[in-house]
Parts: sequence; C-alpha cells; structure tokens
Amino acid sequence: MSDSSLANGGSGTDLVRLTAADTAASIRRGDVTAVEVAQAHLAQIAKVDPLVKAFLHIDADGALEAAASVDEARAAGEALGPLAGVPLAMKDVVVTKGLPTTSGSKILEGWRPPYDATITTRIKDAGIVMLGKTNMDEFAMGSSTENSAYGPTHNPWDLTKIPGGSSGGSSAAVAAFEAPLAIGTDTGGSIRQPAAVTGIVGFKPTYGAVSRYGLIAFSSSLDQAGPFARTVEDTALLYDVLHGHDPCDSTSIAGLSFDATGAARAGAAGDLTGVRVGVVRELGGEGYQAGVTASFDDAVATLKGLGAEIVEVSCPNFEYALAAYYLIAPSECSSNLARFDAVRYGLRVGDDGSNSLEEVMSLTRAAGFGPEVKRRIMIGTYALSSGYYEAYYGQAQKVRTLIVRDFQAAFEKVDVLISPATPVVAFGIGEVVDPITMYRNDLCTLPASLAGTPAISVPCGLSDGLPVGLQIMAPALADERCFGIAAAFERATGILQIPAVTA
Ligand code: GLN
Repeated sequence: MSDSSLANGGSGTDLVRLTAADTAASIRRGDVTAVEVAQAHLAQIAKVDPLVKAFLHIDADGALEAAASVDEARAAGEALGPLAGVPLAMKDVVVTKGLPTTSGSKILEGWRPPYDATITTRIKDAGIVMLGKTNMDEFAMGSSTENSAYGPTHNPWDLTKIPGGSSGGSSAAVAAFEAPLAIGTDTGGSIRQPAAVTGIVGFKPTYGAVSRYGLIAFSSSLDQAGPFARTVEDTALLYDVLHGHDPCDSTSIAGLSFDATGAARAGAAGDLTGVRVGVVRELGGEGYQAGVTASFDDAVATLKGLGAEIVEVSCPNFEYALAAYYLIAPSECSSNLARFDAVRYGLRVGDDGSNSLEEVMSLTRAAGFGPEVKRRIMIGTYALSSGYYEAYYGQAQKVRTLIVRDFQAAFEKVDVLISPATPVVAFGIGEVVDPITMYRNDLCTLPASLAGTPAISVPCGLSDGLPVGLQIMAPALADERCFGIAAAFERATGILQIPAVTA
C-alpha cells in the first residue's frame, strides 16, 4: 500500500469516523443499520489491520450476527440501549465463550473458553457488537505490546512506533478507526499508557468497580478492566456498561452505580470554577521528555483557564511505586500463572509417554511462556520465598500503604491530581531492550494502580507529531469526577484526530 491513509473516501469511512454515541443514535433513528456499521468496520480492519496488526482474531460472522439481532430488535419496536449496534474490540485477556483467547501467549494457543467473562456478558447484553480479540503483551506484562507471542502491534500515528501496552492492540484499533470502542485491562498502567501514546481516551476504574470474573489473572490485587474510546463521552458510555457488582468476583464492590455518562455530559459545559487541581511534584522533571512536559504545562494552563485552582502537591512515596509494583505484581503473577500446568489449558509439550508429569509441565512452560513472563515468575517466586518474603514482598506492601496515605493526604487538599500519563511518547518498535527502561514507562500510572484509585488519560497535544496524554486521578469511588474534568478539558482542547498514516 503506497498511500494507505487510514480512512479515505466513501460512506463506510464516514461511519468508522463517527463517535460511538453518534453511531448508536444513527442506528436508533434508522439512518443506518447495525449490520452496515459492522460491515464498515470490518472493511476498515481488512484495509488497515495488515499494517497495524491490532487484532489476533477477527470474528466477522459473530459480529454480523450480533449486529443483525440489534437490527431485528429495532424492527420489532424494542428500545435500544445507548450503545446498541456499536462495534468493540476486545483485549485477548478477557475470556469469550467459543472464541480463541490467548492472553498473548503461546501457552494458550488453541484454547477456546467454555464461558464468557462477566464484562463480555455485559457487553453482549448491551447490544455492543464484538469485532474480535486484540493483541497484547503476553499475560499483560509490558508497556509496548512487543511481548506478545504473536508479534507487535503498530502505532497508527507512526507504524514504526509502539502503540503502548499491554493493551496496545485495543488502543491501536480505536486510533486506527477499526472500532470506536475497546476494552483494555490496567494492572500498572496498561489502559492509560496505550491511550496516551495513541491519542485516545482510556480509563482505569476504582479497584473493584468492574468485575474481574473471566479476566485471565496477572496480579489480582491490581488488575482492572476498563474502556477505551476516542472521546470522553464514549469512554463514559462504555464504562456505564462495564461497572457494577458481580457476585462471581469476591473483590467486586456491592451497590455501585455510577453515572459516568452524565458526569461527562455535565463536564462538557467546561466550567471548572471551584475545582482544586493538584499537580504532583514527583511526577515530572528529570526523565520526562521536553515535549511531554511542554504539553503537560499547556494542559495545566488550559485547566486554569477553565477556572480550576491549580496547586502543587507533593506525594513523596510515589517515588517508590515502581520498586513496590515490580515486587508485588511479579509475586502475584508467579502464583496466578501456576495454573498453566499443561493439563488444564492449551499447549502440551512432550506428552508422548516418555516424560513424567513434571517433565511435561516443565517442557510446556519452557516452550509456552516468553522471556518477560519467565523473568517475572522467577522474580515473584524469589520475592515470596521463605527468608526473603519480609524483605521484599512485605516491604513492598508497606510502601503500598504509604502511597495510599499520600493520596489520602493529597485529596484533603485537592479534588483531583494530575500528571503526564507517561514520561515519554511512543518509542520505536525494538528500540527499548532493557527491562528497567521499559518499566519506567509506568512511572506516572503506578501510584493509582497500587492505591486502587481511578484515573483517566485524555489526549493533551502532540510532541514531534506523537500524542501526549494528561492523567487525571481521583479518590477511590470518585470515578465520575475523572470523566467530568476530562470532558471539560476535551471541550477546551478539541478531540485529537489522527492524520492519514502512510506505510
Ligand atoms: N507495564 C506494566 C507491566 O509491565 C503494566 C502492565 C499492565 O498494566 N498490565 O507490568
């Protein structure tokens, strides 16, 4: 493809460029059918995904069938939900009945789950049309999607760059107009960081607001699924489908009912008079790219212009978030990944009668897990071993408590905290080889993950033609606040539109 502009010519193009809200409204009015919308997106996938490689599995038949039932419901006079007929890209860490689910790993190749995750069910019940499963870092461990066993995804803004990770397939799909909505999961930043580097909106909920039932576990005390979209309102609409209590997840919060959509619509009025915004001193300065800092400073000025009161806030323990996270997450993963034992799921190597059960297990894990996953299992096993447990895992949990207290102290003074979403913009595929440099991508996102508090990334400009994200963090259970302020900011700055990308 010489000029593979990601969206050019024809009415199908117009359909893929619509917001989710407008798409759903057009379907309800009868201007377009859900089947036509699904076809337009499948055509866009056929055109651009050979370059972007956002999808691991495309379910065209399932999508067209789901779309047809939305059209039938409309024809029968049934009231359609706010996102009925809107296409969605699903991260491959979320189980989907009968559809391949690999979590980006060879060890799950060929596995078709016998059940749906709770969020999959919620999405289907809302009439949302699932187009397929998206690429990701293996078991959600990474910041670039390069750790996928199935090859990297390319950033639609510049195909030589990473789309963020671990939910990079989902972020790239939304940025490339392959889907207006996508699901990601965020353990240490895997929704906010990919959203930031692809110029879209991504939200990590309060821990416990979205069910983890049917999410392939990485680090259970941190994992949360959440929405991606190109606008704050669309992100809110999807969040309102996802959140809510689930008896199948023991950490799910009972009695939760947010109106994120209402908060986004109210926030779009754009007045932030009386809102106290804290700039986190520790999340900036050295190690942050000049272009990121410049866009962030502009964002602060914009918020001030909208009437917000800006204050600098210090959260001294945020500095230790990276070290604490890279003990806690590997520890939990070393326990969670023990279930991949060559017996229950997917791959099995060496089962020819010549090997013992332990040998089959070991051969399967050696062949099925990639290098980053093995590194984390080993770090985690070490950190949890007797004699080291207190020195590593125990200490990390204490640091986690200190970070929670930093947030509590800060939220006595301000309504939200802000920072850049990432210290750097999208880097080149293959450019970062050292794991510690890779881990530093999570500097800004880790504190909210460790504290279980909500945070959103919203586009705040470009640095050398690549998107920069603004992170807005709120107290636990104040999820709506993230949407309100992000909507005000988006109204003031406009929606970032990706230029035509050429291969
Ligand atoms: N980049 C972080 C990691 O590698 C976060 C991943 C995530 O949020 N799933 O662990």
